Amino acid sequence: LVKLTNIRKSFGPVEVLKGVDMAVQEGQVVAMIGRSGSGKSTLLRSINGLERIDDGVIEVDGECVDPSQIDLRALRLKVGMVFQQFNLFPHLSAGENVMLALKVVKKQDKASCRAAAEQALAKVGLGHKFDAYPSHLSGGQQQRVAIARSLAMAPKVLLCDEITSALDPELVSEVLSVVRKLAEEGMTLLLVTHEMRFAREVCDSLVFMHGGRIIEQGPPAELFDHPKTAELAQFVGMVE
Ligand code: ATP
Ligand code: MG
Repeated sequence: LVKLTNIRKSFGPVEVLKGVDMAVQEGQVVAMIGRSGSGKSTLLRSINGLERIDDGVIEVDGECVDPSQIDLRALRLKVGMVFQQFNLFPHLSAGENVMLALKVVKKQDKASCRAAAEQALAKVGLGHKFDAYPSHLSGGQQQRVAIARSLAMAPKVLLCDEITSALDPELVSEVLSVVRKLAEEGMTLLLVTHEMRFAREVCDSLVFMHGGRIIEQGPPAELFDHPKTAELAQFVGMVE
């Protein structure tokens, strides 16, 4: 569903992605780990067109994301993304936040926007919070609204960049269990995460980035228990 070939990206003189190859199959759940600065966010952002790559090929759902003539609207209908910061509009209710993109991007009529938003909020366990404003929701609830906002667009793949990192520890599990449910329902997911136990239990495949390259990938248990590189061994030792 997502295929990356030899992706390169520099910021000024600094090459941040040094030739990344990766594939995510439909229904697969892939976790990406690696040290700060290894290029994880830059790679995710490239996939949904928030960064323009210098070289390489990104294919999503059989179509090339050609950086020179990229149709961002079409791309983002296929690729949803959830960030560490929830970025909800504070002056809109949870339901209105979810409906906004449907209205603007999908140009759906009011009734079908509302129905899709209700369904998406119910999916993240917030069916009863349609009219609540972000300031009246916990961090975990706000992040679940952000997930619902992406889900309502019915993306082919959902990218999640450290979506539990800004949360108080006691709120992490409610967000992870939503992601776990999506995984069980067959959603294609590519997640950057520091939750190693979650990665081990839920993900089909684990990708370890180091210095702008993927230096190991495979089944999570294998990578955690038998790292082949000193870099991964050190990383696992550090976080576990
Ligand atoms: P973290 O775990 O801290 O989120 P990461 O693996 O997501 O790290 P990136 O955010 O992809 O890392 O950053 C990779 C490198 O690119 C870093 O050295 C960062 O400083 C640099 N970088 C990222 N975005 C920009 C930008 N817009 N301009 C200049 N440099 C950038
Ligand atoms: Mg990052």
